[in-house]
Amino acid sequence: MRKQIAAANWKMNLTLQQGEQLLDDIISQPHSLKENQQVVFAIPAPYLAMAQQKLRNKEQVFVAAQNCHSKKSGAYTGEISVDMLSSLGVHYVVLGHSERREYFNESNAFLAEKVNICLENNITPIFCCGEPLAVREAGTQNEYVALQLKESLYHLTADQLRKVVIAYEPIWAIGTGKTASSAQAQEMHAFIRGNIAAAYNAETANAISILYGGSVKAANAVELFSQPDVDGGLVGGASLVADEFVAIINALQ
Ligand code: PEP
Repeated sequence: MRKQIAAANWKMNLTLQQGEQLLDDIISQPHSLKENQQVVFAIPAPYLAMAQQKLRNKEQVFVAAQNCHSKKSGAYTGEISVDMLSSLGVHYVVLGHSERREYFNESNAFLAEKVNICLENNITPIFCCGEPLAVREAGTQNEYVALQLKESLYHLTADQLRKVVIAYEPIWAIGTGKTASSAQAQEMHAFIRGNIAAAYNAETANAISILYGGSVKAANAVELFSQPDVDGGLVGGASLVADEFVAIINALQ
């Protein structure tokens, strides 16, 4: 059975104290996770140790980094290596978020290197893909996303690819309050799964969790997560509000 995931992306928000309070407020509220369901918190790097400590006894709840470097170690001032993440016990890392692609010029090829080093070190990449508004308006979103997958993921073996979580995040829906309709999300998720099936096989495609991201909130999560190819969400703004994020966790089907 595919994993269903409610993943919070705090981005560059909150102080340490605010982050601790938010985690406390979320984990103290009742939420029931089925066997195949997980909650992931992608939080700022300086708070990873705090979050690991706080969540260490919580089953099915994991900490993610928001980025890592493609090299093991060395003269890369300010960067974070997978060894550093592993030494903290971090399980997941978000890769290729549209903000990193746009503001830090992360290319598909560079992301392929990051995917490799994560997998080599048993860290699960949450690989983000998704088209800008102009591409959606031109109707070429499938080709755009297919190229992102091909150039960053399709060098992997099927066994490796199965360890990757994909997050489809249409850029026009991130932080804009403009959510893709559940039909638009399902259509793209089905396309991604079909694309993986064509490049690999149906078994591999069916094993991969594909999350939707882009203005997910408590009010739309049930509808989005009820789509057959939507396996949960990557949530920015709404993950900073405890009641909202708990409702999103509880919307996992
Ligand atoms: C995100 O940060 O990945 C995201 C989808 O943000 P938001 O939920 O605020 O649109």
